[in-house]
Amino acid sequence: MVAVWDLADFDDHEGVHLFRDRDSGLTAIIAIHSTALGPAAGGTRLWHYPNRADAITDALRLSRGMSYKNAMAGLPMGGGKAVILADANATKTTEMIAAFGRAIESLGGKYVTAEDVGMNDADMVAIARETKFVSGLPVGGNAAGGDPGPYTARGVFLGVKAAAKHALGSDDMSGVHVAIQGVGSVGGGLARLLAKEGTKLTIADVSPGRAKALADELGGTAVAAADILTTQADILSPCALGAILTAETIAALRVQVVAGGANNQLATPDDGDRLHARGILFAPDYVINAGGIINVALEYLGQGDRAEVEARVDRIPGRLETIWAESAATGDTAARVADRMAQALIGRA
Ligand code: NAD
Repeated sequence: MVAVWDLADFDDHEGVHLFRDRDSGLTAIIAIHSTALGPAAGGTRLWHYPNRADAITDALRLSRGMSYKNAMAGLPMGGGKAVILADANATKTTEMIAAFGRAIESLGGKYVTAEDVGMNDADMVAIARETKFVSGLPVGGNAAGGDPGPYTARGVFLGVKAAAKHALGSDDMSGVHVAIQGVGSVGGGLARLLAKEGTKLTIADVSPGRAKALADELGGTAVAAADILTTQADILSPCALGAILTAETIAALRVQVVAGGANNQLATPDDGDRLHARGILFAPDYVINAGGIINVALEYLGQGDRAEVEARVDRIPGRLETIWAESAATGDTAARVADRMAQALIGRA
């Protein structure tokens, strides 16, 4: 049995909290990577993992990613992430969510939650009955907050355009070919924004009906999920799950750019080196996909409105350009440059 401290993804996390509520059946992990810049903020993922060790690894990796993401987005928040271990049917009961809200409350504000995969705004409302350390709640009017997906999609769209400018010489997206893996909240929003600019789209989803319906609506092409990573295009935008960039998939890529919204796209740090060696421009995921956390963080902090969220999301391309410029100047990969910048910001240089 390996201790949490000895896991490869343990990175001096400030706390890894395991919760079990016998009455409701809740089993959950809240990982706090860093509170150097403020309360650890990051969503809750409800997922069926093959085993508990995989769930802990996911919480460790995702919480570190949130430290980096929040720091690079200029937010006064640290990094944390919660994982609820679901059964094979992803059962989610009122009692479980209430127990999870009490678990967050027990940390006294060190961790602030919001939606991630498997959780929605109704769950956040239920959690808010138990604790005030929650964001991503429905908001009215022009207030910041609510569903993070559209803001994440907007940031990814702007980042894809910046990548096109850097690698293809222009951010005019008409006629540029973008392949999108996963067309849910983020990938679907991205596809709609790109379609308005005349971008040629090839899309795939493990739910083939979803990809086909969107392709028909936007005038793109739907391909099988198994084929999207080998589609010949200008840009690949991974917007499904993480760890899709491996030695094997990178060798088979037929694009000049990888820029998408999925968290933790590189299976290992070496995979950033592999992309670089192939001359493929990479947009570090926690930089390009920060739109949603900017939105829910401003909601939590009670700062600003939609216009302020958009103004901050609009700074994402500039951050990417800074990273690519330093990568070009130093020869380091974009992924390593971004990690170094983020580590310096949280006092871990
Ligand atoms: P979502 O559940 O709405 O959409 C994900 C889509 O990907 C679904 O349609 C799913 O069927 C599809 N999919 C899953 N595996 C696939 C595969 N192997 N091939 C093709 N399609 C596949 O989720 P989302 O909110 O759009 O998030 C997508 C990614 O972006 C996740 O990695 C998430 O962590 C990340 N992200 C989301 C946000 C946000 O604001 N929603 C913010 C930051 C990062």
